[in-house]
Amino acid sequence: MSENNSNDILIEVKNLKKYFNVGPGATLKAVDDVSFVIKKGETLGLVGESGCGKTTCGRTVLGLYSATGGEVNYEGVNIHQLKGKAKKDFTKKAQIIFQDPYASLNPRMTVGDIIAEGIDIHGLYKGDERTKKIYEMLDHVGLNREHASRFPHEFSGGQRQRIGIARALAIEPEFIVCDEPISALDVSIQAQIVNLLIKLQKEMGLTYLFIAHDLSMVKHISDRVGVMYLGTMVEFATSDALYAKPLHPYTQALLSAIPIPDPEIEKTRERIKLEGEVPSPINPKPGCRFAARCKYAKPECFDKKPEFKEVEKDHFVSCHLF
Ligand code: SF4
Repeated sequence: MSENNSNDILIEVKNLKKYFNVGPGATLKAVDDVSFVIKKGETLGLVGESGCGKTTCGRTVLGLYSATGGEVNYEGVNIHQLKGKAKKDFTKKAQIIFQDPYASLNPRMTVGDIIAEGIDIHGLYKGDERTKKIYEMLDHVGLNREHASRFPHEFSGGQRQRIGIARALAIEPEFIVCDEPISALDVSIQAQIVNLLIKLQKEMGLTYLFIAHDLSMVKHISDRVGVMYLGTMVEFATSDALYAKPLHPYTQALLSAIPIPDPEIEKTRERIKLEGEVPSPINPKPGCRFAARCKYAKPECFDKKPEFKEVEKDHFVSCHLF
C-alpha cells in the first residue's frame, strides 16, 4: 500500500494466503491474497462475519499458522522464515489475547502462574522479581494483588479477560493480536475491556490488530479498519473515512446493521438487507466473492476478480464499481 512512510510500519502483510486441505480436491481458502500494513502504535481493526477468515489471518500474521503463500514482514523480516532463537525472540515481541477467557486459562494454574507463563518460557524473571512483575501486571489491568494465588474459576468473565490481558502483557510485547477479546463478554463489560486496552496501549506504546465482528466497537478503538469477506480484504481505510463513506456494498450492509442510539434517525434509516447465503470458502468460484449477495452485481462480477485498489487517498476497495 502506498500511503506509508516505511519508518512508521511495524508489520507488512503481503499477498498472504492460508489454505486448508479439507478433503480430496477440496481446499478451504481461509485467507486468500490479503495485503495490508500495520503502523507502529496504531490499532488496526479487522472485521467481518464469522468464517470470513479474520481470525485465521490474525493467527497467520503471528506465525501460529504457517502461511500457504505471501509474506508477513515484521520490521522488514519475514516471520515465516524465522527459525530457532530468532523465532522465539519474535514470540516475545508479539502476543495474542484470545476470544474466550473461559477456555484460554488453565483451570489448574493459579492466576500468578498464568500471568508468568511467558516470563517462565523466556526465563525473564525469577523469585521476587517474578512476583513483583505479576503484581505490577495485576495493578495494570485493574485486579488485586491477592488475586495472584487464586484460580480462574473464582473470577467473572470480565476479570478472566483481564487475566488474559495481563498474561499477554507480562513479557512486554510490542504487538498484540486481540482476537475478538470482547465477544464472549456481557455487553456491560465489553466497553470496560476496550477502555482498558486503550489505556494500556497509551501506557505501554502497544500496536494492536483488533479482530471483531462488531463494527460499532471496532470504530471506538481503531485508527484504521480492514473489512474481510470470505477470505479476501474488500475495503481498507481510516476508521473515520470507512464509517463516513463506506464504498464496498458489503461494508455498507454491515454498517447499516448497527443500531443508532437516536430513535428518530433509527426510525427513518434504510437497512441494507444482505440477500442469500454466505457462500462456502471451499473451492470458491471465480470473480467477486460477494457477487451472489450483491444487489449491484453485473456479469463481469461473476467472472473477474476485482482488483484491490486505492480509489481515494488511503482508501482501498475491491469492487468493479470503482
Ligand atoms: Fe458487487 Fe460486483 Fe462490487 Fe462485487 S465487484 S461488490 S458483485 S458490484
